[in-house]
Amino acid sequence: MNGLMQGKRGLIMGVANDHSIAWGIAKTLSQHGAQLAFTYQGEALGKRVAPLAQSLGSDIVLPCDVEDIASVDAVFAELDKRWDGLDFVVHAIGFSDKAQLKGSYVDVTTRDNFSRTMVISCFSFTEIAQRAASRMKNGGSLLTLTYGGSTRVMPNYNVMGVAKAALEASVRYIASDLGPNGIRCNAISAGPVRTLAGAGIADARLMYTYQKAHAPLRRTVTIEDVGGSALYLLSDLSNGVTGEIHYVDSGYNTISMPRPDVLKA
Ligand code: NAD
Repeated sequence: MNGLMQGKRGLIMGVANDHSIAWGIAKTLSQHGAQLAFTYQGEALGKRVAPLAQSLGSDIVLPCDVEDIASVDAVFAELDKRWDGLDFVVHAIGFSDKAQLKGSYVDVTTRDNFSRTMVISCFSFTEIAQRAASRMKNGGSLLTLTYGGSTRVMPNYNVMGVAKAALEASVRYIASDLGPNGIRCNAISAGPVRTLAGAGIADARLMYTYQKAHAPLRRTVTIEDVGGSALYLLSDLSNGVTGEIHYVDSGYNTISMPRPDVLKA
């Protein structure tokens, strides 16, 4: 399978540390020959991301806070200096006020945090797609990360669930708009993973335990599991696939009730 990404250049957005889903994806893509550029949010994370990027042979490590559109533009301007095109982008960015990822959605959600969550976790993908598309001269592949709390209620996921629903709708609109240019757009809906962002959701530990007990594979997913599916969606193996929400969740989304043997125990 080596070489699936040979000759392909892509931007990885959303590595915070070596537990990040984006890092699992980056490692897999690099193993298969991809050339990578990374962004990081803020200097503190930059100190963690730079050595990780270096370990994969990347010397393009750029600051980017998607709330500041000038910093997004600066990333693409820098890429233009380094590369004459772009083949893929991984958007693994999400944020909401932790205080609102707890309790009743109806009671805790504020207008300010709703807007901020939407801009960072949803609209940033559209803004990045707008900028990436013109650089994908030979077609390309855009990938974002979502979670099943978009379509079914997950306690405490709250406004993030609403933002992920909008993100998934964006995937379909972007896929439709950019398809004629040979640019594909998909999302991976990952099961719960222990990351910085994942830990911000109240009772996250309970979620991991529950999914482990009830998912068909009886385990949670790893960042390498997500990396494998990302490799498929970003490589030519999935050339006929766009507008999809691909679940990488040990099959949890397919079940309709908890296991009777666990309930009876
Ligand atoms: P993580 O904390 O490792 O990554 C989240 C990233 O978002 C960080 O790198 C952070 O710097 C970045 N970010 C937040 N606000 C930003 C901003 N304003 N500008 C630029 N970057 C910003 O956690 P993760 O779990 O790897 O999250 C990656 C993606 O995967 C997120 O979209 C998340 O919602 C999604 N996801 C996570 C899980 C899970 O259980 N961890 C499950 C499904 C989907």
